[in-house]
Amino acid sequence: MRIGIIGAGQLGQMLGFAARDLGIECRFIDPSESPPAADVGEVTRRPFDDPEALATLAADCDVVTYEFENVPVEALLQISERVAIYPPPDALRHAQDRLAEKRLFDSLQIPLPKYRAVDSKQDLQDAVDEIGLPLVVKTRRFGYDGKGQFVVRSADDVDAAWRTLGLQPLIVEEWVPFDYEVSAIGVRNVNGDIATYPLTQNEHADGILHLSRAPVEAPELAALAEYYVGELLTHLNYVGVLALELFVADGHLLVNEFAPRVHNSGHWTIEGAATSQFTNHLLAVTDQPLGSTACRGHAGMLNLVGEIPDAARALPAADCWLHDYGKAARAGRKLGHITVVAATADERDDRLQGILDGLRKV
Ligand code: AMP
Repeated sequence: MRIGIIGAGQLGQMLGFAARDLGIECRFIDPSESPPAADVGEVTRRPFDDPEALATLAADCDVVTYEFENVPVEALLQISERVAIYPPPDALRHAQDRLAEKRLFDSLQIPLPKYRAVDSKQDLQDAVDEIGLPLVVKTRRFGYDGKGQFVVRSADDVDAAWRTLGLQPLIVEEWVPFDYEVSAIGVRNVNGDIATYPLTQNEHADGILHLSRAPVEAPELAALAEYYVGELLTHLNYVGVLALELFVADGHLLVNEFAPRVHNSGHWTIEGAATSQFTNHLLAVTDQPLGSTACRGHAGMLNLVGEIPDAARALPAADCWLHDYGKAARAGRKLGHITVVAATADERDDRLQGILDGLRKV
């Protein structure tokens, strides 16, 4: 079995490690100089939409998947008649456009913050009048890790928001004073079987995921989030892993967005779940039964952004795992992560705090 993966970043690398254990060979397309997934399979260094590279991938592989959300949908459609592509390009199309994504949530009656499409400064002004302040303006396409966003706190910010983002299609969203953020990671295989991981709580710093903890001990919210993920997976006739990001505000869930791929907030599943999100993605897209998504305890994941401090390499290994993606250090870049797994939530939190304190001292 050979799988073609568009994108060879750390998600591709972790898919590749999981593929090795399953006896699946991986081939990648990625234009970067030294992509992390080069450790785990042959990488064709071409743009994601290179017709020749895509045709070769389609010819040589049993199935094609992607680990990168900004793959042009047209690139996938070029080869969709020649090879199975999972997740379906239509899911990617929805995830790439915040307006299409929100309309999809609406149509499935998944609650979400109030939003408006904005194509002119007048639209923006109207949205401010209708939704009220504060609100957040987001580009409809190509936003990630909080980029392409502008928080409008007062009427005076409208001009600046328009000057900063106004040359592209936008949406405006109500500002949600959330208590915390969660992600619900689900997986559906070719057969239509669905499994969902225990709900994960996420903390961001500077728009980038900082910490994840699972499971969230809120059974009603977890059941509801699982229901929403199931609705989305079924509606999209989805195959593979999908991550749904939600706000918890006043005890209620409001959906923010979904990622049609394995997700940073699911990295804890490598050591913290019976089957990792990477293994389950591969099982799903290669038409195999899914593995158990049960937690092995209480897991925590800490992203290493900008640098991997020496103290991270010196951590004792018994209950704590360092993943170094092998990327060159650069401010704001995700270079690795640390996972801890403990018997109780308190032990997990103490361990995470100890690690954070240790890394800060350096
Ligand atoms: P996004 O790119 O939409 O995932 O946004 C990145 C982060 O910005 C989220 O994880 C939240 O922490 C914050 N954020 C985005 N939208 C909102 C909103 N409508 N209200 C409050 N915080 C938000």
